[in-house]
Order: sequence, then structure tokens, then C-alpha cells
Amino acid sequence: MSNASPVTPKVGFVSLGCPKALVDSEQILTQLRAEGYDTAKSYDGADLVIVNTCGFIDAAVQESLDAIGEALHENGKVIVTGCLGAKKDAAGDDIIQKVHPKVLAVTGPHALAEVMDAVHLHLPKPHAPFLDLVPPQGVKLTPRHYAYLKISEGCNHRCSFCIIPSMRGDLVSRPIADVMMEAENLFKAGVKELLVISQDTSAYGVDVKFRMGFWNGKPVKTHMTQLVTALGELAAQHGAWVRLHYVYPYPHVDAIIPLMAEGRVLPYLDVPLQHAHPDVLKRMKRPANGEKNMERIQAWRAMCPDITIRSTFIAGFPGETETEFEYLLDFLREAEIDRLGCFAYSPVEGASANELPNAVPEEVREERRGRVMQLQEGISKKRLQSKVGKTIRVLIDEVNRNGGVARSVADAPEIDGVVYVKAPYEPHIKLKVGEFFDVKVTASDAHDLWAEA
Ligand code: SF4
Repeated sequence: MSNASPVTPKVGFVSLGCPKALVDSEQILTQLRAEGYDTAKSYDGADLVIVNTCGFIDAAVQESLDAIGEALHENGKVIVTGCLGAKKDAAGDDIIQKVHPKVLAVTGPHALAEVMDAVHLHLPKPHAPFLDLVPPQGVKLTPRHYAYLKISEGCNHRCSFCIIPSMRGDLVSRPIADVMMEAENLFKAGVKELLVISQDTSAYGVDVKFRMGFWNGKPVKTHMTQLVTALGELAAQHGAWVRLHYVYPYPHVDAIIPLMAEGRVLPYLDVPLQHAHPDVLKRMKRPANGEKNMERIQAWRAMCPDITIRSTFIAGFPGETETEFEYLLDFLREAEIDRLGCFAYSPVEGASANELPNAVPEEVREERRGRVMQLQEGISKKRLQSKVGKTIRVLIDEVNRNGGVARSVADAPEIDGVVYVKAPYEPHIKLKVGEFFDVKVTASDAHDLWAEA
């Protein structure tokens, strides 16, 4: 039965962008529910629409502007938040206000209080807040069995291709007790996989000088290794997985690999390397030393042979010579990264890299991206092939008449491959969404696996 009365104000929500934006959306939706607002599934049924935008690359900007246009056309009352909200054009004007002057308010990312102020102004708060309507874990946009846990906001680096620090500001780490409390609430609510996200997970706590906090009556430092250890313990109590994203290859990251080898957190490391050639990395102003990356990967594999390494790379960065690009290909051949994404360099407005000399023509950027992906296809195929015949643990995401679609420890949702699980022959064994199964891998291709329960 719905608790909403006919007078309960309804807010429509459009959430675009990366997992960090998704967490912002979840926090806004949680606050709306806490204050007694209801959510509407269509523009028609909404008294007001909030659009959470992405402003990272040109295609995302266009998608966000189109979504705002659609919401204005279909509903009329629109509040915009997110990365695009903080973006200015070359003349220094607010992009959204210029294209869509009818929006009621515009905020940048991670601006819960400002968004709520705008909602209160344009759709006044209902009198009796249904505080009890909000579950302790908040409102989640992900399926019930996995959730993102954002541990910090912003970034202290200034990579020359990136405008995130100008949109989201410097690193601000969440207090460790808050992070642990949220993780516990999520596990208690049935989450089976927690995905730790931030702009730079390995920098957690740098801004607060690794301040000491308390969790379960014990002192815990605001530091990545202590956080990961505590999350691993909590996950073990709830029989759940913890997966780490956006970890930079700093030396202290080595300390979490034994935790992976011991099975306390998933042996999966998402390390955005972006390039391999030291000169390109220098022009990119990347944190962590490029020359040591290969040694580091080899050391991680020696400590934890089952580790899955995921990374992203940029092809055709300004000034990238054919020799530098081939250096990248050689690195990839040797590193055999398990999961790899490659983007052709996209000159994001406001990024200092656009001022660098010797821009690479678009067709060359695309061609180089294609060469990386072609090389990776062979590597991925070979690495997945080595899993055929093995028994692996999977988490079921979806059940259909053929069986189920699942993910193994090597597959993060949305970005990696999947495991297609054949429906079990035994009628008493039923695949269930959000449950773990041990399956035997029967086949593979360059991205996915097939298995029998
Ligand atoms: S580390 Fe670099 S790419 Fe990542 S958010 Fe910070 S500035 Fe951007």
C-alpha cells in the first residue's frame, strides 16, 4: 500500500553520468523521501523534474542538454544538478542557462543542500515528513543486490585532460565511521556486492591527514588500507563481496593485495593508467610513476595470481607520436590487462591538454583506439579461455528462461563482461537474482563466459 496521499508532491528524476553521479542522485532521492516527497515515474505525474547531468565529454554534454530540453517540454518545471551545472562556455557563461533559460535552478555536482533548497522553493515541503518511509540504507538506483559506496568527493590531482577538479573541487574524504555505517546498512538491506568508488580511492584520507575515527568501538584511521580491511571484515560477516574502483598505483596499494589473496576483498583492481609512455604521462600530469607500473602489476600478480586488473587508456593524446603509441601497445602486450577500456582522446572544453602542441587528428586518434581494442581482444580472449573447465563463484544479476546472467569476481557491473549460466537440469536448483552460485565454465569468447550451475 502506498503511503502517498493525493496531495503528496511528486518529483520526477532523470539520472545521467557515472557511478559518482548516481550516488549523488541516490542521496537526493533519499532526502526527498525523508522529507515526504514522492517520486513520479513519468513527466506527466511529476510536479517538478530534477535532471542530474554529466559534463565530461561532448557526447555527454549533448545527452544532458537533450534530457533537460525533454523535461522542460514534457513537464516545464525543471531543476538541474550535476557536473554540467558547473560548466561554463568559452565566454564564461553558464552553459545550461544559455541553452535552457527556463530551468528553475542549476547547481553543480554533489550539491544536495542546494538542490533541496531549490525543491523547497519551487515545490514547498509537505507538512508531515514521512521519516519512517526511508530505509536506513537510503534510496538506491542500483538493483537490490549491489550498491556503490562513495568514500570521497573531488580530487587533488590536475590531470591535463580532466576537468573534474574544476567541477567537483579538491578531495574531501567522508568520515570513516559514516562510510562504515552506510556499508553496514547496505549489507543489512541485502546488498551482496559493494562497489567502492571515488575519484581516487587510494588517496582516501589525505585531506584529513588520515584522521583517526571509530568504528564498532575500535579506532580506525581514515586511510584506504584500514578502510578496506574494515570493509572486508564486515563483508565476511554478511557473506558479501567488496570491489575496489579507481585505485591509483601508489606504493601503499601493495598493502591491500594480500587482503585480496586472502579473499577478504575481491581480487579485482580497477587502476586507471591512461598511458604507458613516461613522456605522455608527464604531459597528462598523471599521478603515480609510469615507469614503475609494469613492475607493480607483476608484483601484484605474484602476490595474488587470481587478481583481475582493469584499466582505461587514452589513445591519441595531444603530441602522442607513433613511437609513443607503439610503446603503449608493447606495454599492453606485456601487461596482459584483463579488462581494458580505451578512449580516443576527446578535447573536453576547459581541459589544459587542449593547449598542448601537436594535436593528433581525429581519424588517427580513432585508428589508434581501434588498434588498442584489437590487440586487447586477443589478450582478453586468451585470458578468458584459461578459465574454461574451472569452477567459479558468480552472483546472479538476472534470471531468464535460458538460465541466468551473472558476474564473477572478475566482472564489475555495467563495464565488464558477464557469465551466462545455463538453467540447471535439477528442478530443485533454481537460479535466483542476488544469490551466489558455483558454476563450471564451459565456453568463452573475448568478453564473456558461459557456464553450467
Ligand atoms: S585523478 Fe586526474 S583524471 Fe582522475 S579525477 Fe583527478 S584530475 Fe581527473
